Amino acid sequence: MLRCRDIVRHGEAFVSGEMRGWRRAGFWLHLLFCRYCRRYIRQLRTTRAVSQALPLAEAPAPDELDVLLARILEGAPAQPSAAEKKEGGL
Ligand SMILES: [Zn+2]
Repeated sequence: MLRCRDIVRHGEAFVSGEMRGWRRAGFWLHLLFCRYCRRYIRQLRTTRAVSQALPLAEAPAPDELDVLLARILEGAPAQPSAAEKKEGGL
């Protein structure tokens, strides 16, 4: 029988559906008896669903990256304000 550490180590493969056969059956068997791992797998599924629902952000262009880094180091918000956008800032 699988141990809790096996569930943690291979939980992502189980949740993603990559795991098949007897190994998957062993997972189900462990989850049947271990509420802690059921909770862990539920959290993995939730995290996966939320991350897949988020839109992908476009990476800034290299010249924008320097400006963005300077803004972060100054302690300014990473996103320019509406007034700055009108002035032709970032
Ligand atoms: Zn367990």
